[in-house]
Amino acid sequence: MRLILLGPPGAGKGTQAQRLVEKYGIPQLSTGDMLRAAVAAGTGVGQRAKAVMDAGGLVSDEIVNQIVSERIDQPDCARGFILDGYPRTVPQAKALTAMLNEKAMQLDAVVELKVDETALLQRIEKRAAETAAAGNGVRADDNPDAFKKRLVEYREKTAPLSDHYHQTGELKTVDGMAPMDEVTGAIERAIAAA
Ligand code: AMP
Repeated sequence: MRLILLGPPGAGKGTQAQRLVEKYGIPQLSTGDMLRAAVAAGTGVGQRAKAVMDAGGLVSDEIVNQIVSERIDQPDCARGFILDGYPRTVPQAKALTAMLNEKAMQLDAVVELKVDETALLQRIEKRAAETAAAGNGVRADDNPDAFKKRLVEYREKTAPLSDHYHQTGELKTVDGMAPMDEVTGAIERAIAAA
């Protein structure tokens, strides 16, 4: 099972991906997590990505295409994977298609979580407050300014992916504002129908 979860920052992709990991026994591949790990480890990729990530911008297609290509070759991806936060631009989507073709792999579904942007800002503020209250470090980009930038990036560069995957006939849309369990159920139905 090879899936893409689409949706703006704060839409709940990470939470839903975790549930799908448990249900289908395939890994969640979050390019955001991989990039944060690279930043924390101080690798060359991390050093190149840090400033742009902290500001809420997008890391270059070349970097993310490369890390995804290497990651999906790992043995734990043999039965499939859930892409969370990738692709994020139409060129990345095209690179992914080429990459999968080369590896003789096929996508099973692209599921988009549709959400209301005003509610998103409240969600992200809550997420930052909860993380801080739990004594965990807050993500450098989980603040209203960087979040707004991430939303602008989303609208300009990532939202066109809906059209792209609609045209390829792979897009399934789910109401991301519904209670969490309902969203999970709707995603599972969308996958089953794919
Ligand atoms: P996320 O955890 O998915 O919100 O990603 C956090 C940050 O990592 C984003 O704001 C971008 O700076 C960077 N990032 C993650 N995935 C991508 C991607 N596919 N393309 C470009 N930048 C990305």
